Amino acid sequence: MFLHASYSPINPTTRAFIEHVPGLYINGQYVLPSSGETFVTFDPSTGKPLGDIPRGTRSDIDDAVQAARAAFDRGPWRWSLSPSERGQILWRFAEQIERHSEVLAQLDSLDNGKPVSVARTSDVPLAVEHLRYFAGWANKVQGATIPVNEPNTLNYTLREPIGVCALIVPWNYPLLMAVWKLAPALAAGNCIILKPAEQTSLSALYLGQLAADAGFPPGVFNVVSGLGEEAGAALTEHSRVDKVGFTGSTEVARRILHASTGNLKRVSLELGGKSPNIVFADADLSQAVPGATWAIFGNNGQSCTAGSRLYVERAVFEEVVDGVVNATRAITVGRGMAIEQAEIGPVVSAEQLDRVLDYVDQGVSAGAQAVAGGRRFDGALSDGYFVEPTIFVGAHDEMAIMREEIFGPVVCAVPFDDPDEVLARANASEYGLAAGLWTTDLRKAHHFAARLQAGTVWINTWGNAEASSPFGGYKQSGHGREMGEEAMALYSEVKSVWVTYG
Ligand code: ADP
Repeated sequence: MFLHASYSPINPTTRAFIEHVPGLYINGQYVLPSSGETFVTFDPSTGKPLGDIPRGTRSDIDDAVQAARAAFDRGPWRWSLSPSERGQILWRFAEQIERHSEVLAQLDSLDNGKPVSVARTSDVPLAVEHLRYFAGWANKVQGATIPVNEPNTLNYTLREPIGVCALIVPWNYPLLMAVWKLAPALAAGNCIILKPAEQTSLSALYLGQLAADAGFPPGVFNVVSGLGEEAGAALTEHSRVDKVGFTGSTEVARRILHASTGNLKRVSLELGGKSPNIVFADADLSQAVPGATWAIFGNNGQSCTAGSRLYVERAVFEEVVDGVVNATRAITVGRGMAIEQAEIGPVVSAEQLDRVLDYVDQGVSAGAQAVAGGRRFDGALSDGYFVEPTIFVGAHDEMAIMREEIFGPVVCAVPFDDPDEVLARANASEYGLAAGLWTTDLRKAHHFAARLQAGTVWINTWGNAEASSPFGGYKQSGHGREMGEEAMALYSEVKSVWVTYG
Protein backbone atom coordinates (compact mmCIF):
# COMPACT_ATOMS: atom_id res chain seq x y z
CA MET A 1 0.00 0.00 0.00
CA PHE A 2 1.43 3.36 -0.98
CA LEU A 3 0.32 6.29 1.10
CA HIS A 4 0.23 9.93 0.21
CA ALA A 5 -0.44 12.34 3.03
CA SER A 6 0.64 15.37 1.02
CA TYR A 7 -1.79 18.01 -0.13
CA SER A 8 -1.61 19.91 -3.39
CA PRO A 9 -2.59 23.58 -3.65
CA ILE A 10 -6.24 24.41 -4.14
CA ASN A 11 -7.14 26.53 -7.12
CA PRO A 12 -8.12 30.11 -6.05
CA THR A 13 -11.56 29.87 -7.69
CA THR A 14 -12.27 26.64 -5.85
CA ARG A 15 -11.15 28.16 -2.58
CA ALA A 16 -13.17 31.33 -3.09
CA PHE A 17 -16.32 29.32 -3.85
CA ILE A 18 -15.89 27.15 -0.75
CA GLU A 19 -15.24 30.16 1.46
CA HIS A 20 -18.27 32.05 0.17
CA VAL A 21 -20.84 29.63 -1.17
CA PRO A 22 -23.20 32.14 -2.77
CA GLY A 23 -26.43 30.40 -1.72
CA LEU A 24 -29.15 28.20 -3.11
CA TYR A 25 -29.78 28.54 -6.83
CA ILE A 26 -33.46 29.36 -7.39
CA ASN A 27 -35.19 31.01 -10.33
CA GLY A 28 -31.96 31.92 -12.12
CA GLN A 29 -30.08 33.42 -9.19
CA TYR A 30 -28.28 32.61 -5.99
CA VAL A 31 -30.35 33.35 -2.90
CA LEU A 32 -29.66 32.92 0.79
CA PRO A 33 -31.71 30.23 2.52
CA SER A 34 -34.76 31.73 4.20
CA SER A 35 -33.67 30.40 7.59
CA GLY A 36 -30.26 32.06 7.18
CA GLU A 37 -28.80 28.77 8.41
CA THR A 38 -25.93 26.71 7.12
CA PHE A 39 -24.44 23.33 7.93
CA VAL A 40 -20.81 22.26 7.84
CA THR A 41 -19.35 20.10 5.11
CA PHE A 42 -16.17 18.20 6.02
CA ASP A 43 -13.08 17.25 4.09
CA PRO A 44 -12.97 13.47 4.61
CA SER A 45 -9.26 13.43 3.78
CA THR A 46 -8.46 15.39 6.93
CA GLY A 47 -11.65 15.19 9.00
CA LYS A 48 -11.64 19.00 9.19
CA PRO A 49 -14.51 21.36 8.35
CA LEU A 50 -14.33 22.44 4.74
CA GLY A 51 -17.06 25.04 4.41
CA ASP A 52 -20.60 26.13 5.24
CA ILE A 53 -23.43 24.96 3.04
CA PRO A 54 -26.78 26.80 2.86
CA ARG A 55 -29.45 24.82 4.66
CA GLY A 56 -32.49 24.91 2.45
CA THR A 57 -35.73 24.21 4.28
CA ARG A 58 -39.38 23.77 3.38
CA SER A 59 -39.90 27.42 2.49
CA ASP A 60 -36.91 27.39 0.09
CA ILE A 61 -38.28 24.23 -1.45
CA ASP A 62 -41.62 26.05 -1.86
CA ASP A 63 -39.80 28.89 -3.64
CA ALA A 64 -37.92 26.51 -5.91
CA VAL A 65 -41.07 24.54 -6.74
CA GLN A 66 -42.94 27.76 -7.49
CA ALA A 67 -40.15 28.91 -9.82
CA ALA A 68 -39.94 25.55 -11.57
CA ARG A 69 -43.72 25.35 -11.81
CA ALA A 70 -43.97 28.79 -13.42
CA ALA A 71 -41.11 27.97 -15.81
CA PHE A 72 -42.78 24.73 -16.79
CA ASP A 73 -46.39 25.87 -16.96
CA ARG A 74 -45.89 29.21 -18.67
CA GLY A 75 -42.21 29.75 -19.52
CA PRO A 76 -40.28 29.65 -22.78
CA TRP A 77 -38.57 26.34 -21.97
CA ARG A 78 -41.75 24.44 -22.64
CA TRP A 79 -43.72 26.72 -24.92
CA SER A 80 -41.44 28.75 -27.16
CA LEU A 81 -37.96 27.28 -27.31
CA SER A 82 -37.65 24.68 -30.02
CA PRO A 83 -36.35 21.21 -29.17
CA SER A 84 -33.13 22.10 -31.02
CA GLU A 85 -32.72 25.26 -28.97
CA ARG A 86 -33.16 23.28 -25.76
CA GLY A 87 -30.54 20.84 -27.01
CA GLN A 88 -28.16 23.72 -27.72
CA ILE A 89 -28.54 25.05 -24.19
CA LEU A 90 -27.72 21.61 -22.82
CA TRP A 91 -24.71 21.46 -25.11
CA ARG A 92 -23.54 24.86 -23.88
CA PHE A 93 -24.00 23.64 -20.32
CA ALA A 94 -21.66 20.75 -21.14
CA GLU A 95 -19.16 23.28 -22.49
CA GLN A 96 -19.39 25.32 -19.30
CA ILE A 97 -18.72 22.23 -17.21
CA GLU A 98 -15.76 21.39 -19.40
CA ARG A 99 -14.43 24.93 -19.06
CA HIS A 100 -14.75 24.73 -15.27
CA SER A 101 -13.62 21.13 -15.03
CA GLU A 102 -10.66 21.75 -12.74
CA VAL A 103 -12.78 23.62 -10.18
CA LEU A 104 -15.48 20.96 -10.32
CA ALA A 105 -12.92 18.16 -9.95
CA GLN A 106 -11.39 19.89 -6.93
CA LEU A 107 -14.78 20.55 -5.33
CA ASP A 108 -15.76 16.88 -5.64
CA SER A 109 -12.36 15.76 -4.43
CA LEU A 110 -12.41 18.00 -1.36
CA ASP A 111 -16.02 17.25 -0.51
CA ASN A 112 -16.07 13.51 -1.21
CA GLY A 113 -12.42 12.56 -0.70
CA LYS A 114 -11.98 10.97 -4.11
CA PRO A 115 -8.58 11.52 -5.71
CA VAL A 116 -8.64 14.70 -7.75
CA SER A 117 -6.92 12.78 -10.55
CA VAL A 118 -9.93 10.43 -10.69
CA ALA A 119 -12.41 13.31 -10.64
CA ARG A 120 -10.45 14.99 -13.46
CA THR A 121 -10.15 11.96 -15.68
CA SER A 122 -13.41 10.20 -14.91
CA ASP A 123 -16.22 11.98 -13.05
CA VAL A 124 -16.05 15.33 -14.84
CA PRO A 125 -15.46 14.11 -18.42
CA LEU A 126 -18.18 11.49 -17.98
CA ALA A 127 -20.58 14.20 -16.83
CA VAL A 128 -19.72 16.29 -19.90
CA GLU A 129 -20.19 13.31 -22.19
CA HIS A 130 -23.51 12.52 -20.54
CA LEU A 131 -24.84 16.02 -21.11
CA ARG A 132 -23.74 15.98 -24.74
CA TYR A 133 -25.40 12.64 -25.32
CA PHE A 134 -28.69 13.89 -23.88
CA ALA A 135 -28.40 17.25 -25.63
CA GLY A 136 -28.71 15.16 -28.78
CA TRP A 137 -31.95 13.60 -27.52
CA ALA A 138 -33.74 16.93 -27.07
CA ASN A 139 -34.99 16.92 -30.67
CA LYS A 140 -35.33 13.18 -31.10
CA VAL A 141 -38.11 12.36 -28.67
CA GLN A 142 -40.86 11.19 -30.95
CA GLY A 143 -44.24 9.55 -30.75
CA ALA A 144 -45.81 7.05 -33.12
CA THR A 145 -48.77 6.71 -35.45
CA ILE A 146 -50.82 3.71 -34.39
CA PRO A 147 -52.78 1.51 -36.81
CA VAL A 148 -56.33 1.54 -35.33
CA ASN A 149 -59.48 -0.32 -36.38
CA GLU A 150 -61.93 2.57 -36.49
CA PRO A 151 -62.39 3.90 -40.03
CA ASN A 152 -61.33 7.45 -40.89
CA THR A 153 -59.53 7.76 -37.61
CA LEU A 154 -56.00 8.76 -36.86
CA ASN A 155 -54.34 7.86 -33.60
CA TYR A 156 -50.92 9.16 -32.73
CA THR A 157 -48.84 9.59 -29.60
CA LEU A 158 -46.98 12.57 -28.23
CA ARG A 159 -44.16 12.23 -25.78
CA GLU A 160 -44.34 15.13 -23.37
CA PRO A 161 -42.28 16.22 -20.38
CA ILE A 162 -43.68 15.25 -16.98
CA GLY A 163 -43.31 18.65 -15.34
CA VAL A 164 -41.37 19.60 -12.23
CA CYS A 165 -38.82 16.93 -11.34
CA ALA A 166 -37.08 16.71 -7.97
CA LEU A 167 -33.70 15.06 -8.44
CA ILE A 168 -32.27 13.76 -5.18
CA VAL A 169 -28.74 12.49 -5.46
CA PRO A 170 -26.11 10.81 -3.28
CA TRP A 171 -22.53 11.65 -2.37
CA ASN A 172 -20.51 8.93 -4.10
CA TYR A 173 -20.17 10.65 -7.50
CA PRO A 174 -21.55 14.09 -6.65
CA LEU A 175 -21.35 15.79 -10.04
CA LEU A 176 -21.87 12.70 -12.16
CA MET A 177 -24.96 11.44 -10.31
CA ALA A 178 -26.52 14.90 -10.59
CA VAL A 179 -25.87 14.99 -14.34
CA TRP A 180 -27.16 11.43 -14.85
CA LYS A 181 -30.53 12.75 -13.75
CA LEU A 182 -30.66 16.34 -14.87
CA ALA A 183 -29.46 15.69 -18.43
CA PRO A 184 -32.34 13.42 -19.52
CA ALA A 185 -34.86 15.35 -17.39
CA LEU A 186 -33.98 18.64 -19.11
CA ALA A 187 -33.60 17.05 -22.55
CA ALA A 188 -37.16 15.77 -22.21
CA GLY A 189 -38.33 19.33 -21.47
CA ASN A 190 -38.86 19.18 -17.71
CA CYS A 191 -37.87 21.76 -15.11
CA ILE A 192 -35.75 20.51 -12.25
CA ILE A 193 -34.87 21.00 -8.62
CA LEU A 194 -31.62 19.29 -7.76
CA LYS A 195 -31.06 18.29 -4.12
CA PRO A 196 -27.46 17.21 -3.60
CA ALA A 197 -26.38 15.02 -0.67
CA GLU A 198 -25.51 17.02 2.45
CA GLN A 199 -21.98 15.55 2.46
CA THR A 200 -21.24 16.79 -1.07
CA SER A 201 -23.25 19.85 -2.10
CA LEU A 202 -20.48 22.05 -3.47
CA SER A 203 -20.27 20.96 -7.10
CA ALA A 204 -24.06 21.00 -7.48
CA LEU A 205 -24.26 24.54 -6.11
CA TYR A 206 -21.42 25.60 -8.40
CA LEU A 207 -23.48 24.38 -11.37
CA GLY A 208 -25.95 27.24 -10.78
CA GLN A 209 -23.70 29.86 -12.32
CA LEU A 210 -22.79 27.53 -15.17
CA ALA A 211 -26.47 26.92 -15.91
CA ALA A 212 -27.06 30.68 -16.02
CA ASP A 213 -24.16 31.10 -18.45
CA ALA A 214 -25.47 28.26 -20.61
CA GLY A 215 -28.77 30.14 -21.01
CA PHE A 216 -31.41 28.16 -19.17
CA PRO A 217 -34.42 30.43 -18.65
CA PRO A 218 -35.06 31.27 -14.97
CA GLY A 219 -36.76 28.52 -13.00
CA VAL A 220 -35.77 25.67 -15.32
CA PHE A 221 -32.71 24.70 -13.33
CA ASN A 222 -32.73 25.02 -9.52
CA VAL A 223 -30.42 23.67 -6.84
CA VAL A 224 -31.43 23.47 -3.19
CA SER A 225 -28.90 22.05 -0.75
CA GLY A 226 -30.13 20.87 2.61
CA LEU A 227 -30.68 17.91 4.86
CA GLY A 228 -32.37 14.81 3.53
CA GLU A 229 -35.08 14.66 6.17
CA GLU A 230 -35.74 18.39 5.75
CA ALA A 231 -35.21 19.66 2.19
CA GLY A 232 -35.36 16.18 0.67
CA ALA A 233 -38.53 15.23 2.51
CA ALA A 234 -40.16 18.57 1.62
CA LEU A 235 -39.53 17.88 -2.07
CA THR A 236 -40.90 14.36 -1.99
CA GLU A 237 -44.03 15.45 -0.11
CA HIS A 238 -44.67 18.51 -2.24
CA SER A 239 -48.01 18.41 -4.03
CA ARG A 240 -46.72 20.45 -6.98
CA VAL A 241 -43.72 18.25 -7.73
CA ASP A 242 -44.61 15.78 -10.46
CA LYS A 243 -41.72 13.38 -10.30
CA VAL A 244 -38.89 12.32 -8.02
CA GLY A 245 -35.73 10.82 -9.47
CA PHE A 246 -33.73 9.37 -6.61
CA THR A 247 -30.40 7.65 -6.20
CA GLY A 248 -29.45 6.51 -2.72
CA SER A 249 -30.17 3.90 -0.13
CA THR A 250 -33.04 1.43 -0.24
CA GLU A 251 -34.09 2.58 3.22
CA VAL A 252 -34.54 6.22 2.12
CA ALA A 253 -36.24 5.02 -1.07
CA ARG A 254 -38.99 3.46 1.04
CA ARG A 255 -39.50 6.79 2.79
CA ILE A 256 -39.64 8.58 -0.53
CA LEU A 257 -42.23 6.18 -1.90
CA HIS A 258 -44.42 6.78 1.15
CA ALA A 259 -43.96 10.54 0.95
CA SER A 260 -44.90 10.55 -2.74
CA THR A 261 -48.31 9.01 -2.29
CA GLY A 262 -50.10 12.33 -1.65
CA ASN A 263 -50.18 13.33 -5.31
CA LEU A 264 -49.02 9.93 -6.64
CA LYS A 265 -45.79 11.30 -8.06
CA ARG A 266 -43.85 9.35 -10.59
CA VAL A 267 -40.84 7.93 -8.79
CA SER A 268 -37.74 6.38 -10.29
CA LEU A 269 -35.20 4.81 -8.00
CA GLU A 270 -31.60 3.77 -8.38
CA LEU A 271 -30.63 2.01 -5.17
CA GLY A 272 -28.17 -0.24 -3.50
CA GLY A 273 -26.59 -3.50 -4.44
CA LYS A 274 -24.60 -6.46 -3.23
CA SER A 275 -23.26 -7.40 -6.60
CA PRO A 276 -21.90 -10.90 -7.21
CA ASN A 277 -18.69 -11.22 -9.20
CA ILE A 278 -18.08 -14.81 -10.34
CA VAL A 279 -14.67 -16.09 -11.41
CA PHE A 280 -14.70 -19.46 -13.17
CA ALA A 281 -11.62 -21.67 -13.25
CA ASP A 282 -11.45 -21.26 -17.04
CA ALA A 283 -11.19 -17.46 -16.80
CA ASP A 284 -8.18 -15.51 -17.96
CA LEU A 285 -6.94 -14.76 -14.48
CA SER A 286 -4.63 -12.02 -15.70
CA GLN A 287 -7.84 -10.07 -16.40
CA ALA A 288 -10.05 -11.49 -13.67
CA VAL A 289 -7.71 -10.67 -10.77
CA PRO A 290 -7.33 -6.93 -11.45
CA GLY A 291 -10.97 -6.91 -12.55
CA ALA A 292 -12.13 -8.35 -9.22
CA THR A 293 -9.84 -5.98 -7.31
CA TRP A 294 -11.17 -2.83 -8.94
CA ALA A 295 -14.76 -4.13 -9.01
CA ILE A 296 -14.76 -3.60 -5.26
CA PHE A 297 -12.09 -1.03 -4.57
CA GLY A 298 -12.91 1.39 -7.38
CA ASN A 299 -14.26 4.59 -5.78
CA ASN A 300 -13.28 2.97 -2.48
CA GLY A 301 -16.21 0.55 -2.62
CA GLN A 302 -18.62 3.48 -2.57
CA SER A 303 -20.42 2.47 -5.74
CA CYS A 304 -23.86 0.95 -5.82
CA THR A 305 -22.46 -1.61 -8.28
CA ALA A 306 -19.43 -2.56 -6.15
CA GLY A 307 -18.52 -6.21 -6.71
CA SER A 308 -18.69 -7.05 -3.01
CA ARG A 309 -19.44 -10.77 -3.25
CA LEU A 310 -16.56 -12.47 -5.01
CA TYR A 311 -17.42 -16.09 -5.88
CA VAL A 312 -14.38 -18.03 -7.09
CA GLU A 313 -14.42 -21.59 -8.45
CA ARG A 314 -12.63 -23.75 -5.91
CA ALA A 315 -9.82 -24.91 -8.23
CA VAL A 316 -8.52 -21.34 -8.57
CA PHE A 317 -9.71 -19.94 -5.24
CA GLU A 318 -6.31 -19.58 -3.61
CA GLU A 319 -4.68 -18.26 -6.74
CA VAL A 320 -7.36 -15.60 -7.21
CA VAL A 321 -7.43 -14.56 -3.55
CA ASP A 322 -3.62 -14.28 -3.47
CA GLY A 323 -3.73 -12.26 -6.67
CA VAL A 324 -6.38 -9.88 -5.33
CA VAL A 325 -4.49 -9.49 -2.04
CA ASN A 326 -1.30 -8.63 -3.94
CA ALA A 327 -3.09 -6.23 -6.26
CA THR A 328 -4.67 -4.58 -3.22
CA ARG A 329 -1.28 -4.14 -1.55
CA ALA A 330 -0.15 -2.22 -4.63
CA ILE A 331 -3.02 0.30 -4.46
CA THR A 332 -2.02 3.90 -3.81
CA VAL A 333 -4.14 5.48 -1.10
CA GLY A 334 -4.01 9.19 -0.52
CA ARG A 335 -5.83 12.35 0.38
CA GLY A 336 -8.21 13.54 -2.30
CA MET A 337 -5.95 16.41 -3.21
CA ALA A 338 -2.73 14.37 -2.92
CA ILE A 339 0.10 15.83 -4.96
CA GLU A 340 1.07 12.37 -6.13
CA GLN A 341 -1.59 10.47 -7.94
CA ALA A 342 -3.69 8.42 -5.52
CA GLU A 343 -6.02 5.67 -6.67
CA ILE A 344 -8.38 5.72 -3.74
CA GLY A 345 -9.07 8.18 -0.95
CA PRO A 346 -10.93 8.08 2.36
CA VAL A 347 -14.54 7.08 2.84
CA VAL A 348 -16.87 10.04 2.70
CA SER A 349 -17.73 10.77 6.33
CA ALA A 350 -17.18 9.89 9.96
CA GLU A 351 -20.56 8.15 9.90
CA GLN A 352 -19.54 6.05 6.93
CA LEU A 353 -16.20 5.26 8.57
CA ASP A 354 -18.02 3.90 11.64
CA ARG A 355 -20.45 1.97 9.51
CA VAL A 356 -17.73 0.27 7.47
CA LEU A 357 -15.59 -0.55 10.53
CA ASP A 358 -18.67 -1.90 12.28
CA TYR A 359 -19.30 -4.28 9.38
CA VAL A 360 -15.66 -5.37 9.52
CA ASP A 361 -16.06 -6.12 13.25
CA GLN A 362 -19.27 -8.02 12.58
CA GLY A 363 -17.46 -10.09 9.96
CA VAL A 364 -14.65 -10.96 12.34
CA SER A 365 -17.06 -11.77 15.17
CA ALA A 366 -19.05 -14.02 12.84
CA GLY A 367 -15.90 -15.99 12.08
CA ALA A 368 -14.65 -14.56 8.77
CA GLN A 369 -10.95 -13.78 8.41
CA ALA A 370 -9.54 -10.58 6.97
CA VAL A 371 -6.62 -11.60 4.75
CA ALA A 372 -5.98 -7.95 3.89
CA GLY A 373 -6.94 -4.73 5.63
CA GLY A 374 -9.55 -4.70 8.35
CA ARG A 375 -8.62 -1.49 10.13
CA ARG A 376 -8.66 2.26 9.94
CA PHE A 377 -5.37 3.67 8.68
CA ASP A 378 -3.08 4.95 11.35
CA GLY A 379 0.08 6.98 10.88
CA ALA A 380 0.19 9.70 8.26
CA LEU A 381 -3.47 9.34 7.24
CA SER A 382 -4.96 8.85 10.70
CA ASP A 383 -6.73 12.22 10.69
CA GLY A 384 -8.86 11.40 7.63
CA TYR A 385 -11.55 8.74 7.27
CA PHE A 386 -9.28 6.13 5.73
CA VAL A 387 -10.14 2.43 5.88
CA GLU A 388 -7.73 -0.22 4.66
CA PRO A 389 -9.08 -2.08 1.64
CA THR A 390 -10.33 -5.26 3.24
CA ILE A 391 -10.63 -8.79 1.87
CA PHE A 392 -12.50 -11.41 3.87
CA VAL A 393 -12.35 -15.16 3.38
CA GLY A 394 -14.30 -17.74 5.35
CA ALA A 395 -17.58 -15.81 5.15
CA HIS A 396 -20.90 -17.63 4.77
CA ASP A 397 -23.78 -16.48 2.60
CA GLU A 398 -25.94 -15.77 5.67
CA MET A 399 -23.49 -13.36 7.31
CA ALA A 400 -24.34 -9.66 7.29
CA ILE A 401 -21.10 -8.90 5.39
CA MET A 402 -22.34 -11.19 2.58
CA ARG A 403 -25.93 -9.93 2.51
CA GLU A 404 -25.92 -6.23 3.35
CA GLU A 405 -24.55 -3.36 1.35
CA ILE A 406 -21.49 -2.01 3.16
CA PHE A 407 -20.72 0.77 0.68
CA GLY A 408 -17.06 0.73 1.54
CA PRO A 409 -13.82 -1.08 0.62
CA VAL A 410 -14.80 -4.54 1.88
CA VAL A 411 -15.12 -7.69 -0.21
CA CYS A 412 -15.87 -11.29 0.73
CA ALA A 413 -14.17 -13.96 -1.38
CA VAL A 414 -15.90 -17.34 -1.18
CA PRO A 415 -15.37 -20.57 -3.13
CA PHE A 416 -17.99 -22.43 -5.18
CA ASP A 417 -18.07 -25.86 -6.79
CA ASP A 418 -20.50 -25.83 -9.67
CA PRO A 419 -22.32 -23.39 -11.96
CA ASP A 420 -25.88 -24.13 -10.77
CA GLU A 421 -24.83 -23.63 -7.19
CA VAL A 422 -23.13 -20.30 -7.81
CA LEU A 423 -26.01 -19.03 -9.93
CA ALA A 424 -28.47 -19.74 -7.12
CA ARG A 425 -26.18 -18.12 -4.54
CA ALA A 426 -25.54 -15.07 -6.73
CA ASN A 427 -29.27 -14.54 -7.21
CA ALA A 428 -30.17 -15.15 -3.55
CA SER A 429 -30.10 -11.44 -2.73
CA GLU A 430 -32.75 -8.80 -2.19
CA TYR A 431 -30.70 -6.66 -4.55
CA GLY A 432 -30.21 -6.96 -8.31
CA LEU A 433 -28.21 -4.04 -9.60
CA ALA A 434 -25.19 -5.61 -11.27
CA ALA A 435 -23.39 -8.92 -11.62
CA GLY A 436 -20.23 -10.05 -13.33
CA LEU A 437 -18.56 -13.20 -14.51
CA TRP A 438 -15.15 -14.11 -15.79
CA THR A 439 -14.89 -17.08 -18.15
CA THR A 440 -13.48 -18.02 -21.54
CA ASP A 441 -16.46 -20.29 -22.24
CA LEU A 442 -18.90 -18.43 -24.45
CA ARG A 443 -21.78 -20.77 -23.66
CA LYS A 444 -21.34 -20.30 -19.95
CA ALA A 445 -21.13 -16.55 -20.40
CA HIS A 446 -24.46 -16.31 -22.25
CA HIS A 447 -26.14 -18.87 -20.01
CA PHE A 448 -25.30 -16.71 -17.01
CA ALA A 449 -26.07 -13.42 -18.74
CA ALA A 450 -29.62 -14.69 -19.28
CA ARG A 451 -30.10 -15.99 -15.75
CA LEU A 452 -28.41 -13.52 -13.44
CA GLN A 453 -31.04 -11.29 -11.82
CA ALA A 454 -29.39 -7.94 -12.35
CA GLY A 455 -29.92 -4.79 -14.38
CA THR A 456 -26.35 -4.95 -15.69
CA VAL A 457 -24.20 -8.01 -16.37
CA TRP A 458 -20.51 -7.58 -17.07
CA ILE A 459 -18.65 -10.43 -18.78
CA ASN A 460 -14.86 -10.36 -18.54
CA THR A 461 -15.09 -6.74 -17.50
CA TRP A 462 -16.54 -4.67 -14.67
CA GLY A 463 -17.96 -1.24 -14.19
CA ASN A 464 -18.60 -0.13 -17.77
CA ALA A 465 -21.37 2.45 -17.98
CA GLU A 466 -22.00 4.84 -20.82
CA ALA A 467 -24.61 7.50 -21.40
CA SER A 468 -26.11 5.44 -24.24
CA SER A 469 -26.63 2.20 -22.30
CA PRO A 470 -29.52 1.66 -19.86
CA PHE A 471 -28.68 1.33 -16.19
CA GLY A 472 -30.82 0.34 -13.22
CA GLY A 473 -31.82 -2.40 -10.88
CA TYR A 474 -33.90 -5.53 -10.51
CA LYS A 475 -35.63 -6.28 -7.20
CA GLN A 476 -34.81 -3.85 -4.38
CA SER A 477 -32.10 -2.15 -6.42
CA GLY A 478 -34.55 0.18 -8.10
CA HIS A 479 -37.41 1.18 -10.37
CA GLY A 480 -36.82 2.22 -13.95
CA ARG A 481 -33.74 2.58 -16.09
CA GLU A 482 -31.56 5.64 -16.39
CA MET A 483 -29.27 6.43 -19.31
CA GLY A 484 -29.81 5.78 -22.99
CA GLU A 485 -33.19 6.03 -24.66
CA GLU A 486 -34.78 4.45 -21.58
CA ALA A 487 -34.03 7.59 -19.58
CA MET A 488 -36.10 9.67 -21.98
CA ALA A 489 -39.06 7.42 -21.21
CA LEU A 490 -38.37 7.84 -17.51
CA TYR A 491 -38.74 11.60 -17.79
CA SER A 492 -41.69 11.81 -20.15
CA GLU A 493 -45.40 11.02 -20.39
CA VAL A 494 -47.10 9.49 -23.41
CA LYS A 495 -50.26 11.12 -24.71
CA SER A 496 -52.52 9.29 -27.14
CA VAL A 497 -54.35 11.65 -29.54
CA TRP A 498 -57.43 10.54 -31.54
CA VAL A 499 -58.68 12.40 -34.59
CA THR A 500 -61.60 11.53 -36.81
CA TYR A 501 -61.74 12.88 -40.30
CA GLY A 502 -64.64 10.91 -41.77
P1 ADP B 1 -26.52 7.32 1.45
O1 ADP B 1 -26.91 6.14 2.27
O2 ADP B 1 -25.75 7.01 0.23
O3 ADP B 1 -26.05 8.50 2.26
P2 ADP B 1 -29.12 8.30 1.36
O4 ADP B 1 -30.14 7.44 0.78
O5 ADP B 1 -29.06 8.48 2.84
O6 ADP B 1 -27.80 7.77 0.79
O7 ADP B 1 -29.15 9.75 0.73
C1 ADP B 1 -29.24 10.00 -0.64
C2 ADP B 1 -29.94 11.31 -0.84
O8 ADP B 1 -31.23 11.23 -0.26
C3 ADP B 1 -29.26 12.51 -0.19
O9 ADP B 1 -29.39 13.62 -1.05
C4 ADP B 1 -30.07 12.71 1.07
O10 ADP B 1 -30.04 14.04 1.53
C5 ADP B 1 -31.45 12.35 0.58
N1 ADP B 1 -32.39 11.97 1.65
C6 ADP B 1 -32.11 11.40 2.84
N2 ADP B 1 -33.24 11.22 3.55
C7 ADP B 1 -34.27 11.68 2.79
C8 ADP B 1 -35.69 11.74 2.96
N3 ADP B 1 -36.28 11.31 4.05
N4 ADP B 1 -36.42 12.27 1.95
C9 ADP B 1 -35.83 12.68 0.82
N5 ADP B 1 -34.50 12.66 0.61
C10 ADP B 1 -33.72 12.15 1.57
